[in-house]
Amino acid sequence: MTNVEPDKWYLCVICPKCQEPIPFQSAPAPEEKPDHRARGVQLACPRCHTQHTYRGSEVLRLQGPKSIE
Ligand SMILES: [Zn+2]
Repeated sequence: MTNVEPDKWYLCVICPKCQEPIPFQSAPAPEEKPDHRARGVQLACPRCHTQHTYRGSEVLRLQGPKSIE
């Protein structure tokens, strides 16, 4: 995704190949919604194009991850 802002929160997965966070959806801040749970997602890494299916437990909430696109 584009336009990742440093002070906002995003759901991210870590690419198993290049170990870079891939932000794919904006997310509420932890203080707003501490129990946010993500579902699994299938994504292709924009950097190395590795297609991977991530479980919900592999989805992280990160603040302002740098966009890799
Ligand atoms: Zn990758």
